[in-house]
Amino acid sequence: MKDKINKVEEVSRDLYIIDSFFAGLPDQCGVFLLRGEKNILVDCGTSVGVGHVIEGLEGLGIGELHYILLTHIHLDHAGGASFLLDRFPGARVLIYERRAKHLVAPEKLVKSAHRSLGDSAPHYGTMRPIPIERVIPINDGYELDIGSGRTIRAVYTPGHSSGHFAFLERGSGALFCGDSLGHLFPESGYIFPATPAPEFDGELSLSSARRLMELEPDLLLFPHYGSSGRCREVVEQYIRKLERSITLAEEEGPGGSPRHLAERIMSDFPEMNDEETRLLKGIATVDAAGILHYLKSRGQG
Ligand SMILES: [Zn+2]
Repeated sequence: MKDKINKVEEVSRDLYIIDSFFAGLPDQCGVFLLRGEKNILVDCGTSVGVGHVIEGLEGLGIGELHYILLTHIHLDHAGGASFLLDRFPGARVLIYERRAKHLVAPEKLVKSAHRSLGDSAPHYGTMRPIPIERVIPINDGYELDIGSGRTIRAVYTPGHSSGHFAFLERGSGALFCGDSLGHLFPESGYIFPATPAPEFDGELSLSSARRLMELEPDLLLFPHYGSSGRCREVVEQYIRKLERSITLAEEEGPGGSPRHLAERIMSDFPEMNDEETRLLKGIATVDAAGILHYLKSRGQG
């Protein structure tokens, strides 16, 4: 069976990335498992890919999952949550207080996501409701006790979406950055800002990136895809790339075409195979539309 593939890599001690095979491709969308006295999952992947995540957890011998931390509520991060809760009956989900209602009644959110995702929508699947008693609402600065004297701190990082959080494991300096620093191409270290409509906000995204740098993390963990220990360099590159994308969008002007803007943004992407190029083109077009939308709402598009 195709969805029996599992790919799990150990990033550092007791920290793993499990591939959810987004759009059937490796290295596009992963979830992180932090193993310990309490087992923590950061993000879930889509409803389409969650089978791979469950297989990966089972392969690691994880019998109990305690907490699922959601960086934000997009379908490639939160879509698999209800399925994981079914499989792990002791698990609870942490989400930004103001987004909790979407986990409990996701229909509206799924509809609006499919609208902005266009052709890429089928890869993102759906979301099923989660019982309210399994949701732990969080705000900026929330500290989760994960046992053995360790804590994880929630860091509010709006920009990619207005309800975005990063999570810092204070002992090791590992920072689960969600999509707040874009996508990482692990081989080249290239960073691609993720800027989807309708919530992307350039100013907020830049200030969130600076806030993450001030935390002086030792390891950055990207669901798209992998990790980097060159934290300052990565954040600086993110800021540069985002500023460039915004400048290119300003050049495109008010009636700019997302497709054309996406082509320009992708002009210096590292080499990819045809399948990856097709997938990334779809994602970059959604992101280009997001920047144009942001400029319009800022009054300069
Ligand atoms: Zn994402």
